[in-house]
Amino acid sequence: MSDTLISLKNVCVHIGAKVALHDVNLAIKSGEIVTVVGPNGSGKSTLLRTLVSAIKPTGGQITRMPNLRIGYVPQKLHIDPTLPLTVRRFLSLPRRVNDAVAEKALNDAGAGDLGKRQMTGLSGGQFQRVLLARALLNDPHILILDEATQGLDQPGSADFYAQIAQVRQNFGCAVLMVSHELHVVMAASDRVICLNGHICCEGAPEIVASAPEYRALFGSGTQGALALYRHEHSHTHDETCAHDHAQSHHNENSHDNSEATL
Ligand code: ADP
Ligand code: MG
Repeated sequence: MSDTLISLKNVCVHIGAKVALHDVNLAIKSGEIVTVVGPNGSGKSTLLRTLVSAIKPTGGQITRMPNLRIGYVPQKLHIDPTLPLTVRRFLSLPRRVNDAVAEKALNDAGAGDLGKRQMTGLSGGQFQRVLLARALLNDPHILILDEATQGLDQPGSADFYAQIAQVRQNFGCAVLMVSHELHVVMAASDRVICLNGHICCEGAPEIVASAPEYRALFGSGTQGALALYRHEHSHTHDETCAHDHAQSHHNENSHDNSEATL
């Protein structure tokens, strides 16, 4: 299909003797928003690193649109706290960009006022916005984010999701994000993929219209960016997926105090 940016066919990734991913079939289309959830160690980062060509699969095929531009927001980026580095200079590493390009990216990422700030002086949410700005510098067809809201509090991560939704609207890019927060995904997600070594199931997110505990926590300022993932099993599980889905969801969700039922 001409609007497919990346597709994986029966992709397997071994790390040492371990199978990190197996039989992954996935196609990301232009402009769509896909959220990947799954327990720790379920292969989420491995999947993203495979998509950005940092890992070569041990089996299966990957097809990318010719000249595909990917914007990648890593899970973590350590910056030496003793290193003086402004946001503006950071955006020119490793490739120099001019002021107009840097300013546009910062504005698009909701970080328009941060250019002169020191990287080490930023809050978690500001830092993530700067990483987002960096990912936008090359006008990506697809934005790939690995647990970009990890370490942010819940309102902070809701703000960040709203920013991503805005970016997608401005750029028309596809978005593939890993979220550790099973219950919080973008309402705009076309698909939520549950990963546990392979794609266990996929489902559509549902806006939390009738969950007063979420509204109480986040108010109305999230502009619909919060959604509840309605877990639907679209296929029969084979013996390779032996884990208890309900249990793994409970574990994922255990860090938050909401009473939402999944
Ligand atoms: P997730 O991002 O969902 O937490 P990962 O993709 O990081 O999961 O890891 C998937 C599996 O691969 C895990 O079992 C992990 O232990 C293993 N793994 C990932 N990276 C490495 C590595 N560099 N060396 C050894 N094992 C790894
Ligand atoms: Mg990970």
